[in-house]
Amino acid sequence: MTTLDQLPIRDDLRGRTPYGAPQLDVAVRLNTNENSYPVPDAVVEAIAKAVQAELRDLNRYPDRDAVALRTDLAGYLGHGLTAAHVWAANGSNEVQQQLLQAFAGPGRSALGFGPSYSMHPLLAAGTGTRWIGALRDPDFGLTPESAVEQIDRHAPDLVFLCSPNNPTGTALDPSVVEAVLASAPGMVVVDEAYAEFARPGTPSALAALPGHPRLVVTRTMSKAFGFAGGRLGYLAADPAVVDAVQLVRLPYHLSALTQAAARAALAHRAALLVTVDAIKEQRDRIVTTLRSRGVRVADSDANFVLFEVGGDQHAAWQRLLDRGVLVRDVGLAGWLRVTAGTESETDAFLGALQ
Ligand code: PMP
Repeated sequence: MTTLDQLPIRDDLRGRTPYGAPQLDVAVRLNTNENSYPVPDAVVEAIAKAVQAELRDLNRYPDRDAVALRTDLAGYLGHGLTAAHVWAANGSNEVQQQLLQAFAGPGRSALGFGPSYSMHPLLAAGTGTRWIGALRDPDFGLTPESAVEQIDRHAPDLVFLCSPNNPTGTALDPSVVEAVLASAPGMVVVDEAYAEFARPGTPSALAALPGHPRLVVTRTMSKAFGFAGGRLGYLAADPAVVDAVQLVRLPYHLSALTQAAARAALAHRAALLVTVDAIKEQRDRIVTTLRSRGVRVADSDANFVLFEVGGDQHAAWQRLLDRGVLVRDVGLAGWLRVTAGTESETDAFLGALQ
């Protein structure tokens, strides 16, 4: 059998491991921050109808620029945005890969503040971008001073911010985004995959877009919309940024079926986003319950909670799995992350952890 090492693979990919959140067949799956609620029947019907309407035309390529979908996404975001400010792809991972291809890549660098989303450095690696692992504060926050100091030291071509941050749940103060925009020499990408779960009053970086052509906000339908399997992520930015990603995107990257399904889901967003409040309630219940048991927990504005188990977190992860509850070991010594799902999933998690 041929091993990977025997292939003429790029030297900079040798010895690397792929993204690999375990996909295990377990009763309670709280490890990838999906929305635990299935798509409601009325939305299933609407998506099926929209997809059905595309089937006869599958002999033709889809709208390469996905204009109707981008118009709908801009309408959802508000903030005076139009289709020209919005770009969509197969998940926000693909959007971020396109941003790295356009603005980073070989000979350039990208910086992120860890612990943060594990795909940012992996996407950098895949695009030949040098990764700079800057750090958050010990309490998982990030002050403008610390962010600026680290950016000044490295002068990266692209900075990733993540708010609310995965895996800590921490929302960024807008002063951090402002300070980073003022000091970063290149692009500033704010990953807002979990924005819909933030507490009222938590501002989005969307508000900072006017006058900041180097700012990009990425969003996804994978979390609040419960559309992870549909694969639809998007960005909002100056229209020139949309022109830039079009230089690197594959032609017809968004299938006609994806575009139709996503538009139907967006049209029924009230029925999908209704789950957000219920999930936030479970998130807050997890935080309150664990704190009442004396467990250290990071403040969360997302649909997950980072909690301290102390010692060997992988052993704790395994013991939860043995009790039928799959959570996430993000590789942070002494800590695990759990997704907030349904009430009964929270019951199962809290029972198993006890
Ligand atoms: N950003 C963050 C911070 C995430 O946690 C995730 C999903 N785990 C994504 C982006 C990617 O989501 P998708 O590609 O499904 O849009």
